[in-house]
Amino acid sequence: MIAVSNAGTARRPPVVVANGCESDPTSGKDSHLLHSAPHLVLDGLALAAHAVGADQAIVCLHRGDPLVEYVAAAMASRSDDPAEVRVVTVPARYVASEASALANYLTTGDARPTSSPPWPSEQGVQDRPTLVDNVETLAHLALITRHGADWFRSRGTENSPGTTLVTVGGAVCGPGVYEVDLGMPIGQLLWLAGGTPIPAQALLLGGLGGRWLSMPSAVDRVLAYEDGSPAGAGLGLASLVALPATACGLRVTATILRYLAAESAGQCGPCMFGLPAIAEDVQALAQGGMDPALADRLRRRLEVIPRRGACSHPDGAVRLAASALEVFHRDLTNHLHGRPCGALDSSTPPVLRELNPHPAQGWR
Ligand code: SF4
Repeated sequence: MIAVSNAGTARRPPVVVANGCESDPTSGKDSHLLHSAPHLVLDGLALAAHAVGADQAIVCLHRGDPLVEYVAAAMASRSDDPAEVRVVTVPARYVASEASALANYLTTGDARPTSSPPWPSEQGVQDRPTLVDNVETLAHLALITRHGADWFRSRGTENSPGTTLVTVGGAVCGPGVYEVDLGMPIGQLLWLAGGTPIPAQALLLGGLGGRWLSMPSAVDRVLAYEDGSPAGAGLGLASLVALPATACGLRVTATILRYLAAESAGQCGPCMFGLPAIAEDVQALAQGGMDPALADRLRRRLEVIPRRGACSHPDGAVRLAASALEVFHRDLTNHLHGRPCGALDSSTPPVLRELNPHPAQGWR
């Protein structure tokens, strides 16, 4: 939860925002939650509004999301929420669900992240202190209020207590959204999802801006937020995609990077120019570029881009590309020596085929 400061804006009541914009194509947990338990999210939103003294609460969903009317109907059936509650639809762009982008959109109608302070917690929607929380966090808040902190802490680990929703996709028998204890080994989650019909060579954890993990060693890592632990895998936005052994990991990575490059808000040079450049490099390597200088150039680019954007979008793309170089190192070496890699199928797994590199929606 983001801390709210009233400094400088003491007379203006805060605003709370429930972020239900599920921007990452590998994730479906927020939609699943809003569909199966809308009042749990709205209860959490009302509690958050009460806690910070907000007089406005807003649920943000993507424009065109079929849940918009469903959530609005759930809101209309409630009578004792402390704040005025409404649904606002936001352009369906990858970075438009970033907290400063939501605050910017709700104030100016422009859904791009803002690049400098004041941040939403101090001066967000209509210049008011703004609390932006994911819908799952709000659902947890409602459950903790009902059942107590000890109940919540009875699941999960000391540093990552409770449960989490994880979207599992790609080459698994039972793709879907699973609620699991934090600390669960990834292998157990794959088992819950019915296993992999053909062996998986790698897993993409944490969405398109997450990281590749090698199989089979990834099965022993645990789902946790504390990535510093030796076994922790860093959940990110809590999605897991299994890449079959028959697919080309470099080609899939290039597809994702092209998509992420097209989703740049075009405000920061390292993001606007750096992401297409690394996408091109990975594509060239995937196509069998036999130039060792290409891999070196890519590595240099990956070193200079992080932490230089206004938001974390380029950092996620770099994390993905760097993990691909590590996890698909053998394929890369084969390509660099003119040998074919082991991929039999150059297509992407189903969950990634939906990536649209030319988004139809603008920023307003
Ligand atoms: S880093 Fe990229 S996506 Fe983020 S604000 Fe800058 S240009 Fe936009």
